[in-house]
Amino acid sequence: MTEDAKMSGTGLSRSPDHPITRDHGDLVQGIPGKITINTSQLSTEIEALAGFSDSPAPAVTRVVFSETDRRARKYVKDLCTAAGLTVREDAVGNTFARWIGTEPHLPAIGTGSHIDAIPNAGRYDGTVGVLGGLEAIRALQRSGFRPRRSIELLLFTSEEPTRFGIGCLGSRLLSGALDPARATNLKDKEGKSLDDWRAAAGFHGDLGSTLLPRGHYAGFVELHIEQGPLLEKHGTPLGIVTAIAAPASLRIWVEGEGGHAGAVLMPARRDALCAAAEIILAVETAAKGTGAIDTVGTTGICDVFPGAINSVPLRVRLEIDVRDIDQARRDSVLAQLQSACDEISSRRRVVVRTEIINSDPPAQCDPRILDALERGAARHNLRCERMVSRAYHDSLFMARIAPVAMLFIPCRGGFSHRPDEYASPEAIANGTLVLAEALAELSSS
Ligand SMILES: [Zn+2]
Repeated sequence: MTEDAKMSGTGLSRSPDHPITRDHGDLVQGIPGKITINTSQLSTEIEALAGFSDSPAPAVTRVVFSETDRRARKYVKDLCTAAGLTVREDAVGNTFARWIGTEPHLPAIGTGSHIDAIPNAGRYDGTVGVLGGLEAIRALQRSGFRPRRSIELLLFTSEEPTRFGIGCLGSRLLSGALDPARATNLKDKEGKSLDDWRAAAGFHGDLGSTLLPRGHYAGFVELHIEQGPLLEKHGTPLGIVTAIAAPASLRIWVEGEGGHAGAVLMPARRDALCAAAEIILAVETAAKGTGAIDTVGTTGICDVFPGAINSVPLRVRLEIDVRDIDQARRDSVLAQLQSACDEISSRRRVVVRTEIINSDPPAQCDPRILDALERGAARHNLRCERMVSRAYHDSLFMARIAPVAMLFIPCRGGFSHRPDEYASPEAIANGTLVLAEALAELSSS
């Protein structure tokens, strides 16, 4: 069934050139009049934002605190100001644009995402949640709706780990998931610190001041492209995210004994790479061993020293990512991996040292927000399916201080983090419309 066929008889009209509209004379969840998504303006803004890039189109490169990132932030802030929102920035550059409600003392409803982009990425990851969030607010304004709770758009600093090697820097600080003292010591590859970078970008003050109090938000909902193929494959316009998987990242050092590839005979070998190879397979075995489809384990980095064809590997560094939506199950994989390392170490007479880089708890999404999203989709006869987010997002950390949920829209082929990343204007408008409905409902309660 085509989208147009699905829409017929629902009071909705749309075509690529016309905004999506909902017409109804009655009050629905406190929304008077109609919600109209201005699809062409939203597309224009997404395109304009993609123009702030350090790589030629269609690729987008926008690393946090670069000159390009700073100009892109200004572009978004100006749009927020033009929409009558009150803009505030914190010490790390997280940007809050607030539509003040009729009861401004109440905890707000938040929405938003990020605008930084890894090198050679696309134009939709993150930006759809920021500009779509803004358009959802403007659509509610145009409808005549007045929120009881304030609605706040959030632009998170550095969701991508490109510059400082840690993802979701801004939301980690907001939620208390990252110690400000540790954040202060973060450095880029050239040794330039976070403090240097944020000062150059005009963000000053104590990083500790970024922490949001519990109760700042009554709920937070992030619109995002799926970055996977399921919605497109199923022909479903919306994904309601029930849980966000979280990674544990490990660095494992294996130290054996090097030597001449001809001279050191096999019985005498303490080959670090052979031991590392067994560890890599142990990651796979442990992840498969839970029997749960949501458990995944990956060894993405294997550095061999000295790395010469005629030299027995002396030292190996592995970097391993284990994810699940169930923390206990994920941690059981880590425990199994640790005992495998111990066994391999003694049998092969090598030293194995394990360092946990990070181990974040997965998040379960809030049933009340999930229901609000589903009701919003139902009002427009848009089908949705419940799903798990296997990538993590700023919402993973917001879950520590507020009830959260995410809303996914399909992206072509499931591609993301590459220049041909694509979400159709219609898909984005669907997500924005349902986000607006949910924001209206949640801010009215
Ligand atoms: Zn993203």
